[in-house]
Amino acid sequence: MRLKKAEREQVRLKYGGHCAYCGVLLGDRWHADHLAPVVRELLSKQTAGGTWKLVSGKPLRPEHDVLENMMPACAPCNISKGGQTLEGWRAWIARHVESLNNYTPIYRLIKAYGLIAETGAPVVFYFEKEQQP
Ligand SMILES: [Zn+2]
Repeated sequence: MRLKKAEREQVRLKYGGHCAYCGVLLGDRWHADHLAPVVRELLSKQTAGGTWKLVSGKPLRPEHDVLENMMPACAPCNISKGGQTLEGWRAWIARHVESLNNYTPIYRLIKAYGLIAETGAPVVFYFEKEQQP
């Protein structure tokens, strides 16, 4: 859905102007994210030069394309979440610690020198902390 200016401002202020997920204060450039993803179909389209490219088509879950499902998000969170559900994204973020340990020697090195400590903390989104009493 194309948000009207007032609706977009309503979404931005949902968590006091913070990203609903990481909590960063949003600047002028931010994304209206669908909490429950709409997931758009992918279409291959031929360009004028004859090559093919993928373009996003109509939403496959149009019932999620409503104002109540919109969350204010910084670009990195919105792009990282993509078409994942909240729980899918939470697990995906948590798995990155394992991925860093397995595939990133410099990460293991700086961890060995005590510059980084893994906390094992659960992934808790900003809006979840805001909702706690
Ligand atoms: Zn964020």
